[in-house]
Parts: sequence; C-alpha cells; structure tokens
Amino acid sequence: MHGITYLIYDSKESWSSISSKARKECANRSEYGHDSGSITKYSHIAKNKEEAIEYLKSKDTGWYDCIACQFYEFPNLSSKVVESLDNKIKELNNKYFELNNTIHYANVKASFVSCPSCNSKINRDFIKWNNCPICRIDMRPKTILDRLTQYKEKIKSLEIEKNNEIKHLQEKNIRKAKVKWLVKIEYHC
Ligand SMILES: [Zn+2]
Repeated sequence: MHGITYLIYDSKESWSSISSKARKECANRSEYGHDSGSITKYSHIAKNKEEAIEYLKSKDTGWYDCIACQFYEFPNLSSKVVESLDNKIKELNNKYFELNNTIHYANVKASFVSCPSCNSKINRDFIKWNNCPICRIDMRPKTILDRLTQYKEKIKSLEIEKNNEIKHLQEKNIRKAKVKWLVKIEYHC
C-alpha cells in the first residue's frame, strides 16, 4: 500500500535539515525502512496549505514522489464582516437543526398517517422519526423539505462569502504570514 503524509516545517530551518528530517520520517513509516532519496523542492509559495497540497498533487507522478513547496500560514484573521457572516451561519445552522430534528407528525390529531410514497397507514404512536418505517422515505411535506434545502443553500453561499472575505484579508495582511515548507512523503507500507 502507498502511504502519503504531509509534513510541515518552518522556513527558517535550513533545507538540508528539513530534507534529512523528512527522509528519516519517510524511512520510519516505510515497511522496509527505505530511504526516499532526495526530496524535490519547487520554488512556489502557495496562498495557504490547501492550495499547497493541490499544487503538489499537480506535480505528482504517482510513483512514491517526495516533493515540497512553500505556503503562507496566517494567524487567525477576522473582521466585522467575517464575524457577522459567522453569526448568520450559526443562526441558520441552528434553525436548520431545530427544524430538521422536529418530528413532523408527532402531534397530529389523526391516529394514522399515510405514507405519500408507499401508502402504508402508520399508527401515529409508532412515528419516532420522519422516515416511513416501511419504505424509509422522508414523509415530511414538500414545504418543510424545501425550507431545509433553502437553509442549506443559504449556509453554503454564506460560507463561500466568508471564505472569500478571509482570502481578501489574507492578501491584505501578507506581512503577518509565516512561510512554511510543506513536504509530501510517500512510502510503501
Ligand atoms: Zn412508505
């Protein structure tokens, strides 16, 4: 099996020291203690760790490549805009969970509820969840399901907005960032 690990090192450390540490790490994890050989480093500084991983994946030949590039690591950056987006996301998450966890037919007056999909008549006392106990379909009315979908879509779009805002903050605060090495090691295990 191929094992892949991403290691992070401070850029203040010399490359020879980082490289020998990473090779040792690779040998320790490898089934037969194989040394990876030299590690190829790319002179690329990614905007963050996630983008560095994507960059290394684009350089990977898929055959035990041990490769490295650098990335910016930012302290937690926030702004009024980020905070307000965060609050909106939390609020909508709460609304979503509250609605989603409500057993819709728990308090109906009728003693039987019929499943819209398989038409089974279910005794109200046996309704412990929103899914039909026979065919498993979600029995809640479309209006409720639509509202849940709308919450999810809204949360998703606010998260995109928040991530863009954080990216923007990072670009403005590049001086506060530390440059790190991301070393990808791959070994047989
Ligand atoms: Zn059913």
